[in-house]
Amino acid sequence: MISTQDVTSTQDEAKNNGADPARLQLARRDLILTGTAVAAAALLSPTASLAEVPMSEPKVTHPMTDEDRAFMTMALEKMRQAGVVDKTGGPFGAVVVLDGKVLAVAGNSVMSDNDPSAHAEVNALRAACRKVGSPHLKGAVMYSSCEPCPMCFSTAYWARVAKIFYAASYADYADLFDDANIAKDLTLPYEQRQVAMQQIMRPDAQKVWDEFRRTPGGARY
Ligand code: ZN
Repeated sequence: MISTQDVTSTQDEAKNNGADPARLQLARRDLILTGTAVAAAALLSPTASLAEVPMSEPKVTHPMTDEDRAFMTMALEKMRQAGVVDKTGGPFGAVVVLDGKVLAVAGNSVMSDNDPSAHAEVNALRAACRKVGSPHLKGAVMYSSCEPCPMCFSTAYWARVAKIFYAASYADYADLFDDANIAKDLTLPYEQRQVAMQQIMRPDAQKVWDEFRRTPGGARY
């Protein structure tokens, strides 16, 4: 996952910040080692402060329980419903569970909603958050019929989901959908990505960040 380029940019960053390059490289390697932080590491911009990225302990994998099987079966039924029966979008389904209870079940509805973000996981997380009246689902578990794309992983991350179970892998549908391509794109330098990234007007945006920091009761999450 980590490329020579990552290490080089980390060294440059260290030089620029006057920080110890060895410490920063170690910080990034630690991130790579923690399963759920892989996407976060890939998403780090060259200017991101590594020190502010929270570390998480490696998570233990448990054998699948009967409950897990039941929830994943619901996700797989929704997968078939969305992609094969109703054809609302791709064959993807997701279930969000909190404290052993199903909060939301959703399928992909990208086509019926004309919404590129209407992936099953995002749909399920949105519905679950509305149900609990919070953007956070601390301790929730998500069952996804397929390996979540970076957007869905990020949405689960933002929602503070504790764990994601998935069934099919990117490789099982790489001939049909872009999940693997997007994940790969995130590992490339901005100028080499399919969607080009170029930074402009940073100082103007930084002024708003300064103002936000000084604003009491700002919307922080
Ligand atoms: Zn997705």
